[in-house]
Amino acid sequence: MFDLLIKGGLVVDGTGAPGALADVAIKDGRIAAVGPGIQGEARRTVDAAGRVVAPGFIDPHTHFDVQLLWDGAAKPALEHGVTSVVPGNCSLSLAPLKAEHRQALVGMFQQIEEMPPEAFTQAFDWTWEDFDGYRRAIEPGLSINVAPLVGHSVIRLWVMGADANQRAARPDEIAAMQAVLRASLQAGAVGMSTSFVDVDERARPVPSRFAAFEELDALSAVLGEFGRMLQIVPEFYATDITIARVDQLAELSIRHGIPTTFSPLFDSAFTPDNVTRVLGRVAEQFARGARVWPQMQTRPIDISFSLLRPSLFFARLPGWVRVLRRPLAERIAALKDPETSAKMVEEAGPDGGMAIFGSLVVRGGDEAPAHLAGRTLEDIAAERGEGAARALINVSLEHGLDVAFVAERRGHDDTGRIGPMLANPLVHIGASDGGAHLASFATYGDTGYLFSEFVRSAGALSLEGAVKKITSDPAQIWGLKDRGELREGYAADVVVFDAATIGRGPERPAFDMPGDGMRYVRDATGVEAVVVNGAVAWEAGRYTDAKSGVVCPLN
Ligand SMILES: [Zn+2]
Repeated sequence: MFDLLIKGGLVVDGTGAPGALADVAIKDGRIAAVGPGIQGEARRTVDAAGRVVAPGFIDPHTHFDVQLLWDGAAKPALEHGVTSVVPGNCSLSLAPLKAEHRQALVGMFQQIEEMPPEAFTQAFDWTWEDFDGYRRAIEPGLSINVAPLVGHSVIRLWVMGADANQRAARPDEIAAMQAVLRASLQAGAVGMSTSFVDVDERARPVPSRFAAFEELDALSAVLGEFGRMLQIVPEFYATDITIARVDQLAELSIRHGIPTTFSPLFDSAFTPDNVTRVLGRVAEQFARGARVWPQMQTRPIDISFSLLRPSLFFARLPGWVRVLRRPLAERIAALKDPETSAKMVEEAGPDGGMAIFGSLVVRGGDEAPAHLAGRTLEDIAAERGEGAARALINVSLEHGLDVAFVAERRGHDDTGRIGPMLANPLVHIGASDGGAHLASFATYGDTGYLFSEFVRSAGALSLEGAVKKITSDPAQIWGLKDRGELREGYAADVVVFDAATIGRGPERPAFDMPGDGMRYVRDATGVEAVVVNGAVAWEAGRYTDAKSGVVCPLN
């Protein structure tokens, strides 16, 4: 007796092979058989006629570390067909972490990932310090599978305390870090993440940036004992430095026999040769035997913000950031203060901020004053007889700062260029940043967008090629054991979707985070059922109470 029989769908098995009409039988969390006309009783049968049946999607770059403590489905990732996520990217993870360092980590998460502090204080109890303890804290509640990275910055904090973001490590400290990393890998970490660009909430470089090469080399040697992943955030804004990082990763990959990955890799009109040059070097390094996987996201860069919260939109306007960091009442007072606001307007540029702010659009929906929704700030500013920066401040003040603006298509938005990049066999599709940047953009639906934009509209990838890119490719790159293919004996992570409609819904604000927790989300379209380790976790537009997710076993 099978537990589940998915009948009559177009089975796209994740290997890239052409889809074929077949049934998928599941028993004890594993795929029992794949083929046409499977006979035998099943506790449940799902009719998949006219639908695609594929392995569950894998998202290799997320920051669901915190959310997983109260939401084991990493909503809404799971409903988009994602059955496994990699949290712990960009040098940050929630373990190993001593109690006295919690505040320092929360500050970094807030700055880099734009998470509200309440997410760390109201939604769960800190019951762990080491990595195994974190694993035990999340595992019982998981509906999605998790392959967690351990963060280099927190390993440094554990060993060096307050010196972690002051200096290079001594040999004894490096040895201690190796031991902490080894214990984390033994407890199930899929690898280690590090960052060369991020700063904390006081604009100080994060601890991983103080590591000398000897330290990264010594930690990579430990990764090599297990054959596990090194993930980095390179200086992605500068092509030459990124290429130097590719070379460095290649050395570590070859010397220690490890896979490495870097993210993000963006296409942009400002540096049109960035991706070509970086991919050229990546190809040379693969030819030498290195594994250096660039991660590329599918979606264009859209950034939303209001003056209610600090936003990465203002990263290059420190004067604005200083004002927006203040508590609400003080912030409003500062924005109303003629001297302060004049300085902000001045910082926005000689054109009154038109170049930076003019093309911003007031978001539609509940939060926008009806007469402003959908209009550009340039248009609104002209009507008011003000510059763009001044209009941004005044319109916000007139509505209690609760006016949201969106900067649309600020890079990585040319489908004709990006399609072939995503199709390149050396490009690893990822970098959704799921669970982060909550008030700036929805990090969900990138997989749906892959199908709607790059398979259906542009034809840059075949259906089978796109499925492979987000199933067996990441499973093999990351060493996730028995995942990413619909094959007998493999874990039964399955998504049933409509190839004609799978996509991402419009970006909308949701208020489902702890505390003052607004975030942007996107609903899934065209995904009919999601199965995690044999249990139906999402179906017909709603979550079930299945808790069948696991911390992924590794090869
Ligand atoms: Zn990240």
